[in-house]
Formats: sequence, C-alpha cells, structure tokens
Amino acid sequence: MKVLVPVKRVIDYNVKVRVKSDKTGVDLANVKMSMNPFDEISVEEAVRMKEAGTVSEIVVVSIGPQQAQETIRTALAMGADRGILVKTDEMVEPLGVAKILAKIVAEETPDLVILGKQAIDDDSNQTGQMLGAILDWPQGTFASEVKVDGGQFHVTREVDGGLQTVALDGPAIVTVDLRLNEPRYASLPNIMKAKKKPVDTKAPEDYGVDIAPRLSVLEVSEPAVREAGEKVEDVATLVSKLKTAGAI
Ligand code: AMP
Repeated sequence: MKVLVPVKRVIDYNVKVRVKSDKTGVDLANVKMSMNPFDEISVEEAVRMKEAGTVSEIVVVSIGPQQAQETIRTALAMGADRGILVKTDEMVEPLGVAKILAKIVAEETPDLVILGKQAIDDDSNQTGQMLGAILDWPQGTFASEVKVDGGQFHVTREVDGGLQTVALDGPAIVTVDLRLNEPRYASLPNIMKAKKKPVDTKAPEDYGVDIAPRLSVLEVSEPAVREAGEKVEDVATLVSKLKTAGAI
C-alpha cells in the first residue's frame, strides 16, 4: 500500500505571532518555521503503518517556498521514503492546495492520503475535505484511531461528546486529530540518511493549477488584550461587582 502525506511549513507553534503594523497579515520575517504539528502526527501514523508491514511506500508533499524542503526532510528523517516539493512563493489557499494534491494523486495513485485536520497558521480545516470532493473519495476526518483492514480503513473520529467509527473503502482520505499518536523525534542517523532520500521539485504550473487567491483578507488583528483581574474581600462584594458589571 502506498501513502501520500501532505506536510505544510508553518510558524512554529511555540512562537508568539506578531501582526504586521498595516494589519495585512502576520510577520514572517526571522520567525522560526516548522512542520504543522498535525502533519507530524500524519507522518508518524504513516511510518507506523510501514513498520507494521501494511505500507510499502510513503511519499510526502509540500507546497511552499524552497525552505519547505526542510519540512520534507524532517518527514523523511521520521521515516518517509521520498518527497515532492511544489515550489511557490505565493500563499496558496486550501482549494489551490487540494487541486495540486489531486493532480499528484492521479500521478502517484496512493491508496491513502493522510493529512492534518488543519494547518495552525490559517486554521482552515478545508484541504482534506476539498481533496475528498475533487477526487470523489471517501473521507474520515478528525481521526483518533486508524486501522487498516484489507482494502478498508476503519477510522475512529472525535465527534462532539464521543467517538464514531466509520469504515472507508480505499482509496480514501483521512485527516488526523491530536490524540491519534505521539510523533517521534528523528534520530541523528536518520536525519543524515534523510539527506540522501530523493526529493523532486515541481511548480504549480507543472500541474496546470491556477493558484491565484480567491479570497481577499480584509484585516488581521491581535486578539483583544485581557483586562487585569481584581481581588475582592468576600462573596457579597464579588456578587455586587458582577451585578454592577452586568455579568449576572
Ligand atoms: P488547512 O485546510 O489549511 O487547515 O490544512 C489541512 C491540511 O492540509 C494540513 O494539515 C496539511 O496536511 C495539508 N496542507 C495544507 N496546506 C498545505 C501545503 N501548502 N502543503 C502541503 N500540505 C498542505
């Protein structure tokens, strides 16, 4: 079985994001970038399937600038086999990403595409679903467990108030949630080995996909600053203050 894993290069989750003064977006200059945390989980899941003998090849894809090759190398160091960098300096919206991935799926014919449930930079939570629609493939979103059963995938999904398990006939799309697994750190020898694994470089035009944005961002702003708290003497004062503030 062959698995395709799309991985996105995003601002590292530990970085405190700064909004640009003209409010057109966030400041990316000199900011640490890393693999989208949900994509680390999907790479880990694919690698575990390979270790279990159900998967024979893992191909990772990243659509982004030249530096996205580092994100691909990280996935290769975790255990993926080869990479495809679709190089562009433009911001590609989920629909553009899904269209490029659909073309790659047509070329690579994977049995499973496993993506993050969302990218932590745009929080879109759209790409996997759009890819499912374009390909007309079954999809299991927000997976907290994935079991391979012959040509079927049993996906346990985190839904409001519980878990739902669905069976998908492959080829299929799975998007992963936080509790699916704990991704490994790549060991130094594997980081060295990953440098020798093949990475193809392509461009969106190679796939005939128009990535021109369809949305225009009107404004990006900082979240409202929380007001400082206040200590009160007793419950009666608390209730009276809350009443005055209209909170109760
Ligand atoms: P989103 O729909 O933007 O929240 O992203 C959901 C998932 O789609 C991510 O976790 C990635 O697996 C994949 N994805 C989104 N954008 C890209 C990209 N530029 N390159 C590779 N994969 C991507």
